[in-house]
Amino acid sequence: MGREAHPPAGAARTLPGMTDTHSAPHTAPALNTRPTLLAVFAHPDDEAFSVGGTLTHYARLGVNVVLACATRGEAGKITVPGMTVTDLGAQREQELIEACRALEIPAPVFLDYHDSGRYERTRHDDPLAMMNVNPLDVEVKLRALIERVQPQVMVTFDPHGGYGHVDHLQIHRAVSAAFFSAGSLPYGGPKRLYFTAMSVESAAGIARMGQDLDPLVYGVSEETFAVRMDVSAYAENKKAALAAHGTQMGEQSLMGRMTPEERAAMQERLGHENFSIGGTRTPIHQYPLRGLFDGLEGLEHLDQ
Ligand SMILES: [Zn+2]
Repeated sequence: MGREAHPPAGAARTLPGMTDTHSAPHTAPALNTRPTLLAVFAHPDDEAFSVGGTLTHYARLGVNVVLACATRGEAGKITVPGMTVTDLGAQREQELIEACRALEIPAPVFLDYHDSGRYERTRHDDPLAMMNVNPLDVEVKLRALIERVQPQVMVTFDPHGGYGHVDHLQIHRAVSAAFFSAGSLPYGGPKRLYFTAMSVESAAGIARMGQDLDPLVYGVSEETFAVRMDVSAYAENKKAALAAHGTQMGEQSLMGRMTPEERAAMQERLGHENFSIGGTRTPIHQYPLRGLFDGLEGLEHLDQ
């Protein structure tokens, strides 16, 4: 599933209100026999740090990796002089498509919500901003996506939304709800839901970089990890994916302000991606698990 698998960056609409940049027009889905992983996040770049190496790992094993992004991150901090909010959304869409290439996964599906923003950029009056959308509407949209791509495994934010962004929290809740209600779908629904999990140490590192968060609240103890993925083999993919998010890497950004020591510590953390378990429809044979598909009937070979 390398670069040649990518269609040009066009937008083929397959469901109302959802932009699918990588697949053919919607037809009634046949029962899925291909291993499929659906990762759902809120903004372009949410995927790169926490789950990028895992996505590359499973894509190389032949898993159909679908990344859904709820917004285009257009209300993020503008670190490029002269850029408008509209420009930023279009630019970040292209950056995410490029990041997916770097991760060797198909181009993303956009759920077409608006970025809620933070601080002085918060969009209290935008009805399409994630923070103002009815969570059940998000769940319905996600169920349609689940029905179409038929994932066995889903991944999203943990209950604290990583560092607590309101859009992350909204996506966590909607994806969790969709996982639970999707069990009645004709294909049987996803079997496992995982949350990206951050150790207390990693959370402390982010706090030191200026994020206002309590590491003991936002981080978890290592016993909480259901899966610890060694993704050091995909470090170059992750670095390229992070670099693709150029608008987020300016001198004023969190990344841009890092000291050399912080960068070194970040490189160390890039080698592992950790997940807690959000739900299962199959027995858990061992804990921690060897991988996201461990114990799923017919898919055990993926985590040997
Ligand atoms: Zn985000």
